[in-house]
Amino acid sequence: MCKHHPPLLAWVQDGSISRPTSSSDAAGYLCDAAKCKLPTCNCVSMSPPGGLNASQVPMFVVFTADDAVQSYAIDAVNQFLAHRQNPNGCTPKMTYFTSLNFTNYTLVTDWYVAGNEIADHTMTHVGDPPQDEINGNLIALNVLAGIPLKSIIGFCAPFLNFTVNTLKLLAAAGFTYDFSTPAAIPVTDPGMDAFWLDTLDNGMANDCLAVAGSCKGQPVLPGFWEIPMYAYFDERGPAGAHLMDPWLDRANGATKVKDTATLEYMKATFCDGEQRQIG
Ligand SMILES: [Zn+2]
Repeated sequence: MCKHHPPLLAWVQDGSISRPTSSSDAAGYLCDAAKCKLPTCNCVSMSPPGGLNASQVPMFVVFTADDAVQSYAIDAVNQFLAHRQNPNGCTPKMTYFTSLNFTNYTLVTDWYVAGNEIADHTMTHVGDPPQDEINGNLIALNVLAGIPLKSIIGFCAPFLNFTVNTLKLLAAAGFTYDFSTPAAIPVTDPGMDAFWLDTLDNGMANDCLAVAGSCKGQPVLPGFWEIPMYAYFDERGPAGAHLMDPWLDRANGATKVKDTATLEYMKATFCDGEQRQIG
C-alpha cells in the first residue's frame, strides 16, 4: 500500500499487494458461537449468518467511493448506478467515504439526501490517522454538510493503512463499522479469508500478517463490526490480488496497465460464485 503521497496529479489510491495478508495461523482466531450471537455479536465465518444456506442468501455488492466529493466524482458514480435497479425495483445506493480536502459540501448534502451513506475517511487523507483526523471529519461533515452525527457510522482508512489504534479510536468514537481490511486469499484456496461481516468481540481475523498487534484475539472491541473487502485476483491467483481501484493496477505482472486484462480478471473473480464484499 502506498505510504507516501505522490504528486497530486499522479495520486492514486494504491491498494496493491503482492501476497496474502493473513493466514489462519496468524489469525489464531477463536470464537464461541453459542455466546457470540446476533444482533450484537457475530463470529468470523465463511458461512452466512443465522445458519442460512448460501443458496438462500442474496448476492451483496458493496459499492463505495472515497476522497473528495466533487461534481465529476458524482457523475462518475452515477455512470455505474443511476440506470440500475435492485431486484426489488429500488435504485442502488452507495457509501461515500468522504475526506475534507477539495470536497464540495453542498454535494455531500445532496448525496446524503438522495439516500446514500456518508462515511468518514479522515480530514486530510492520512493513513494510521490520529484521533483528530477521524473525529474532526465528523464535525466537518456535520457542520458543513448537515449530515447528522448519528448517521455517520462507518470508516475506511486512507490507503487502507490502519493500525490497532485506529480500530480502538473508531470504537471509542462510537462508530459502528470499519471497512479497511483486505481479504486477499481467493475463495478457491484453503484458508481463504473472505469472511462475512463480524464483530471484534474476539479480535481480528483479517490482515494479520500486515498489522502489528492485531489478531490472536486482539483487539477486543465488543459490538464493533469489521467488513472485510474481498480482492480481485488475476491469473496469478493469490500473488495477483488487487484491492482498491483495480483498473489502476497492472494485471498478471505485465509492465503496463491493460484494460481488457483488468476486465477479464474482474469478471472471473466476480463470477466465482462465492464472493462476499468486493471493494
Ligand atoms: Zn482515499
